[in-house]
Amino acid sequence: MSGGSDARLRDWEVVVGLEVHTQLLTKTKLFCRCENRFGAPPNTLVCPVCMGHPGTLPVLNGEAVRLGVRAGLAAGCQVSPVSVFERKHYFYPDLPKGYQISQYATPLLTGGGLRIRTEAGERTIRIHRMHLEEDAGKNLHAGIPDRSHVDLNRAGVPLLEIVSEPDIRSPDEAVDYLKRLRQLLRATKVSDGNMEEGSFRCDINLSIRRPGSTVFGTRVEIKNVNSFRFVHKAMVYEIERQIEAVESGEKIVQETRLFDPSSGRTKPMRSKEEALDYRYFPEPDLPSLVIDPVLVEEERRSLPELPEKKVERFCAEFGLSRADAEILVAEEALSRYFEEGLSLFRSASPAGDALRKARERWTSFVLSEVLREFNRQGEGVLEGETAVVHTVALLGKVLAGSLSFSQAKEVYSRAVEESRNPLLLVEELGLVQLSGDDELGRLVEGVLAENPAEVAAYRGGKDRLFGFFVGAVMKKSRGKANPEKVNEILRDKLKG
Ligand code: ADP
Ligand code: MG
Ligand code: ZN
Repeated sequence: MSGGSDARLRDWEVVVGLEVHTQLLTKTKLFCRCENRFGAPPNTLVCPVCMGHPGTLPVLNGEAVRLGVRAGLAAGCQVSPVSVFERKHYFYPDLPKGYQISQYATPLLTGGGLRIRTEAGERTIRIHRMHLEEDAGKNLHAGIPDRSHVDLNRAGVPLLEIVSEPDIRSPDEAVDYLKRLRQLLRATKVSDGNMEEGSFRCDINLSIRRPGSTVFGTRVEIKNVNSFRFVHKAMVYEIERQIEAVESGEKIVQETRLFDPSSGRTKPMRSKEEALDYRYFPEPDLPSLVIDPVLVEEERRSLPELPEKKVERFCAEFGLSRADAEILVAEEALSRYFEEGLSLFRSASPAGDALRKARERWTSFVLSEVLREFNRQGEGVLEGETAVVHTVALLGKVLAGSLSFSQAKEVYSRAVEESRNPLLLVEELGLVQLSGDDELGRLVEGVLAENPAEVAAYRGGKDRLFGFFVGAVMKKSRGKANPEKVNEILRDKLKG
């Protein structure tokens, strides 16, 4: 953005509504029994139904309905007792039928909302609707000179489209909304939310208006932005573009634009005049979708603890800061690892003070060491040789005083690196922290005997020399002495 834009932004309010398409985690497609799987060779997961052959009939996948209902309940939506599939017509090579089966006038879910939290504060972004639809295929151009191919593996894959109300007011809020939505879908196992594989894609509707205005400005729709960073960039660019246009007397035209990541700009794709007329009408080959209240109750009862609740519980139960709790809860696998670790410590030391200390150490270890390795290498570091039992055992050594915290950190990252059991590494490296009173006592006495002048000076009132003695003992032990213990013993012996 050009200079001075912050000041100018204050003269304008940004209005955004997001449309998210998320792929549902079903075994099979929405209207046929083809596998719903990413990454298979082109056109190997197809049948006459999803290839759009005439005369074939769609049969609705009940699992997709169940997942849709679950997502809706998690976001506080109302489930429509009856909803209707409709045909949405357009021509594109990846859509052999010439129409997409979607829901239009009567969607499966309406209402609901998501709490977001940014620097601007905490707010609810209302959800307008969620509906089921099938995905289209994919045109392939890369590496094919002068030709395009079509891969229909994705054709007919079940999508849930989630449409927000125009309640979002900034790029930060948009990104926070998307992150929380993705987190909710992952936590409820509705979708894997994998953005690289296209399982979570977003259209941005954006307009600007004067603060205090009660009507909306003309909106532009930016299609298919597939990363949080791009959503932010596309919005920042588009806000600036619209402000500049309006301030120089132009009118915003309602149009569809595309974000080009290489230039960071949005470019026109089609104007309102060129807007497609989808000619929706109810799908004659499918009955109305009637939802059994029993299914709704089943899904409601089987909802897992939702991210918002989990954050609150982590704060209340474990004394975490809100920021730390959010970091852990953002990744289901990581928060499970964290909680499993805590319960292992709880069964090992049920006593109050020891447990509190264990919890503090564990929290700080998970939030620094484990989080770093997790971000670097993914969920694998939470299993195998660095699974929670082993990491807890490693920290157990710190708590017992036989290993220092920094030694534990070093061992852990080496264990991850080499896929080795950290406890074996501790033995192999001869990493033992000296904590025994006898052993440490001998070291301390050695140091005092070697430095009689300093001892006399200290006893004569030169308190500052205390650090010198600690350093000397640590050095003598080659860093293996337990510093707390050394302090204790030194104080005792220096008394004279
Ligand atoms: P459609 O794409 O079918 O026209 P809608 O008009 O209902 O659907 O809106 C699509 C999305 O655009 C919704 O997320 C809605 O909140 C958002 N939206 C609608 N009007 C505006 C506006 N003036 N500025 C920004 N977003 C808007
Ligand atoms: Mg739309
Ligand atoms: Zn098929």
